[in-house]
Amino acid sequence: NGATTKKCLSQGKLIVLTGPSGVGKGTLMRSLLQRHPELYYSVSATTRPPRPGETDGKHYHFINRSKFEKLVASGEFLEWAEFAGNYYGTPRQAVLNQINSGKSVVLEIELEGARQIRSSFAEAFSIFILPPSINELEKRIRGRGQDPEDAIARRLRRAQDEINAAEEFDIQIVNDDFEAALRSIEEALDNLQPCKENS
Ligand code: 5GP
Repeated sequence: NGATTKKCLSQGKLIVLTGPSGVGKGTLMRSLLQRHPELYYSVSATTRPPRPGETDGKHYHFINRSKFEKLVASGEFLEWAEFAGNYYGTPRQAVLNQINSGKSVVLEIELEGARQIRSSFAEAFSIFILPPSINELEKRIRGRGQDPEDAIARRLRRAQDEINAAEEFDIQIVNDDFEAALRSIEEALDNLQPCKENS
């Protein structure tokens, strides 16, 4: 259907990709960004320690709790949440600057943050990524093999709560076949704002 060759997804939109940890939304998002370099990825701040291979400023801004709490107090986050014992937040100014300059911004965030964005930005478009099943999700989280056992247990408990909230969001996409899921996301974004250059 040609979706992969389109270059002009949209302008100045706020796009939220959410879903339980381990569902593959990070991988989907990275592929989406590769195929659509016009999208801006918002790098979050977190108090979680870096995983092997993660770079400060690229995957996250890794900061400590007291710094994070100061940033919360001074209103520097567009949204923030505690997840599995750590804080995560989206830098407000960076995102607003991009949107104001006409760039679309993709946030890859957990449920509470996604809810905050939905309630503060009526025009945000939100996509919920579902696993094929909860068993499959557990396999994926364990397969990542990078988190301690207690963190895995916390993530799994949280996952079911998150899945129950899927209907709150604009669309739901099951990440069973990766390519199909990616195409569904692209189609949804294309429909959001038709590609002016091609039409
Ligand atoms: P991880 O520790 O696996 O990188 O991320 C844990 C969860 O936090 C994931 O569901 C991820 O999408 C979410 N997350 C990452 N950055 C943010 C953020 O800035 N805000 C919120 N609310 N969640 C985030």
